[in-house]
Amino acid sequence: IKIKVTNVDIPVAYSNAFEGEIIRRGDMQFEADGSRVDCLELVRTREAHEVEDHKIEVIGPDFDSFEVGSKVQLAMIVDVAGRKMNSDFEPVFERKFHAYLNCIEGVMHTGQRDMIRIRVSKDTFAAGFRAKHFGEVLYAKVKGEFDTVVDKCQVTIITDPAAATEMRKVANEIYDKRDERLLSLTDENVKEFYTCIMCQSFSPSHVCIVTPERLGLCGAVSWLDAKATHELDETGPCQIVPKTGVIDENIGKWESVNDAVRKYSQGALEIVSLYSIMEDPMTSCGCFECICGIEPFSNGVVIVNREHPGMTPLGMSFSEMASMTGGGVQTPGFMGHGKHFIASKKFMKAEGGVARIVWMPKALKEQVAEKLNATAQELYGIENFTDMIADETVTDDPEKLLEFLGEKGHPVLGLDPLM
Ligand code: SF4
Ligand code: ZN
Repeated sequence: IKIKVTNVDIPVAYSNAFEGEIIRRGDMQFEADGSRVDCLELVRTREAHEVEDHKIEVIGPDFDSFEVGSKVQLAMIVDVAGRKMNSDFEPVFERKFHAYLNCIEGVMHTGQRDMIRIRVSKDTFAAGFRAKHFGEVLYAKVKGEFDTVVDKCQVTIITDPAAATEMRKVANEIYDKRDERLLSLTDENVKEFYTCIMCQSFSPSHVCIVTPERLGLCGAVSWLDAKATHELDETGPCQIVPKTGVIDENIGKWESVNDAVRKYSQGALEIVSLYSIMEDPMTSCGCFECICGIEPFSNGVVIVNREHPGMTPLGMSFSEMASMTGGGVQTPGFMGHGKHFIASKKFMKAEGGVARIVWMPKALKEQVAEKLNATAQELYGIENFTDMIADETVTDDPEKLLEFLGEKGHPVLGLDPLM
């Protein structure tokens, strides 16, 4: 027997109205910060006998033992069992934690996996909000929203430092396995792509086409996630786009893709090419992790991530570039994309691939270096390609950038003009 859960048993209000709530440092009781201490969120599929429905276990001290303003460990593990449960669904549930926890009054959540950050306000703590209440929310929402596949659900909240560290190792192995699964998939070896129209609530004509080698521009929807989202809800935001009617595989054009964007953008969009930034590029909503834009002096592109506060050689910051890129319209020369797309063999494939990248913030470069270097090695036989890419410590001046690229022998200098 399945019980549909509707109410959430917590001492503060629970509503979408709290989703954008900001909790300032001075107002917070404590903070879980995955960039400093061991924090994580994880969904695991288990056997039915391993899960006790609605069990909520807290391992470690409760919130009243934390010093005001402190940074604490916090791991949240949701174990689920169900005949129709499939481990491909795990990241889809996990991604919803962000929305689930943000709806709690006085709780702010950002990030995912082991890079989460959660703040609990002093008022919410004073109202009696404790560790088990995170469990209540996660139980109620996962069970309520995914009842077609989840028969039983239990939640473990870990605040004990040693146990959180231990659990982070376990979680990282699981995250790595998921990423590896995706790595073995290419756009060529699947039969279908997926749409995602989750962002149409605020960007009505925007459609992401999600492929194995091009994840959604928010960075949060991989091809496997889109596939799982479709399996969980056949009439939902992710619809199958059969890979048929190839027009040009180099630029990434298929008749079926065009049909899908036309249909799901309600006619606002006619043609999209998946691998080009110049010719009918994919549109952007507003939640891109990165933007790339053409840099006319070098014939290359600059990539900037949302976290980067400074200037780029285009004379624009991230937010200035974002204002030219968003809104669900096609803007050749500018494109929003996910971080993982940077190392993809499909990144600007039509224009020569990753060899077009001439500048990135240092922090972003470090994040993507390993995979990007492997891609450049495979495509062009270049070693340590990221050493040829400038960053803010080199210059944000276009002329100095060109000089730097010349000194490094950057491959972009041998490519055809972009315009
Ligand atoms: Fe879906 Fe794209 Fe929005 Fe991400 S950015 S949620 S993939 S529509
Ligand atoms: Zn979006």
